[in-house]
Amino acid sequence: MDEQRTIKIFDTTLRDGEQSPGASMNIDEKLRIAHQLERLNVDVIEAGFPIASDGDFEAVKKVAQAVKGPQIAGLCRANDKDIDRAWEALKYAGERGRIHTFIATSDIHMQHKLKMSDEQVLETAVRAVKRAKGYTDNVEFSAEDAVRTRLPFLARVVEAVIEAGATTVNIPDTVGYTIPAEFFEIISYLRTNVANIDKAVISVHCHNDLGLAVANSLAALQAGAGQVECTINGIGERAGNCSLEELVMTLRTRQDVLSFTTNVVTEHIYAASKLLSTITGIMVQPNKAVVGANAFAHEAGIHQHGVIMEKSTYEIMTPESIGLHQNKLVLGKHSGRHAFTQRLEELGYDLNKEDTDRAFVRFKTLADQKKEMFDEDLDAIVADEIIRIPERFKLLQMSVSSGSFAAPTATIEMEVNGKVKKGALIGVGPVDAAFKTIKKLTDSKASLLAFNVGGITGGTDAQGECTVRLEENGREAIGQGAHPDIIVASAKAYINALNKLILVMERKRVHL
Ligand SMILES: [Zn+2]
Repeated sequence: MDEQRTIKIFDTTLRDGEQSPGASMNIDEKLRIAHQLERLNVDVIEAGFPIASDGDFEAVKKVAQAVKGPQIAGLCRANDKDIDRAWEALKYAGERGRIHTFIATSDIHMQHKLKMSDEQVLETAVRAVKRAKGYTDNVEFSAEDAVRTRLPFLARVVEAVIEAGATTVNIPDTVGYTIPAEFFEIISYLRTNVANIDKAVISVHCHNDLGLAVANSLAALQAGAGQVECTINGIGERAGNCSLEELVMTLRTRQDVLSFTTNVVTEHIYAASKLLSTITGIMVQPNKAVVGANAFAHEAGIHQHGVIMEKSTYEIMTPESIGLHQNKLVLGKHSGRHAFTQRLEELGYDLNKEDTDRAFVRFKTLADQKKEMFDEDLDAIVADEIIRIPERFKLLQMSVSSGSFAAPTATIEMEVNGKVKKGALIGVGPVDAAFKTIKKLTDSKASLLAFNVGGITGGTDAQGECTVRLEENGREAIGQGAHPDIIVASAKAYINALNKLILVMERKRVHL
């Protein structure tokens, strides 16, 4: 077996992941994810695309200022304006700032999108890398749609950008088209045909359109790549990106045949997955590898028997290795602040004193209404009280009348851009009445795409958790809300989605 290599994990949850429909995050939410990635100890955090909007710029700058440890990357197209703007945000990370510039190299992209020749693309790529190099030694270059690029041309571009100073060269499968054996050959070709390839780290960035992103990334590592770009829960454009947790746990679990390690502290994986779902409202399916609700549940009787006798019978990795601890019950109305704080820590939350105080007040109120408190209740409290901070629109008070006799009416008091507004409307049902009233008070043009209600735990005293998906001009946002009263939870989810939609509407989009 080869000597063990430490693979660099480049997390792009905040850039590529955040670009997936409905996944947009505000600055506070991005910072929360960034700190979780810091705990995971990824090597690089791609914090955003600074020129996309002022909000994106601010987010990259804040992450560059606040996060210690991982390098902070910012994406920019291969032009001076993008690169200069990226460095303005990244410079706060000092030596840990990485400029990540890109241009497409496939015929289909060069002809139809860029309308540029081989020589023009090559020259633009080299000029961009040199420009970036003027700011930092830490420069990554990506050949967009590399997988569909003529290999001799790809090799020429890679050699030229390394010569110009790129220290990482990324080979993306932008459209999720390749298969493992083919991708292995592409990386091998570059290692053989690019004279200066040893002067840079080969990175890969795979999309999951055919469900092969992790497999393709793994094949690239076996061919000599040294960095994988990935996201938590595999979120990203279309079918998403290579999933960080699947790749990292594969490397950890199969060290017997794979000679790679990473610096990731895997025990923080579960908390990272949960935090991202809470913030974006995008849940992972129950059978999702590593982090799905059923990933460690051995339902079938025969399996259960085996697991009880000897865990390794059916368990290839332990739940503890990703930081998943058995759902214990827990806390009740007599539980003190100490027990509460300790349980939050065990669940992977790292809250400051002020946030802990706020969450504890909410906990006490809920514990008076509800007999037993489960971990899921604590998650909902943290999500609703700490993580989902209302920005432009905020619910102050509401009351709803409904039933089989009177017309359902919602009366709502909200804060809209700092001003208090109040209104009441009739609807088909209480949720409809609430949504109509909020829509009127906020002057929103958004249309409702989906609305879901779920109970967080069993029992009629459970908190309700609602998800709302809104659309305006082809842009989407997802909002969530939790409350023991499901109409209030619905209204909170609707308002949360409206707040997110504002972020999405003001942003440029790129694909990589
Ligand atoms: Zn991508």
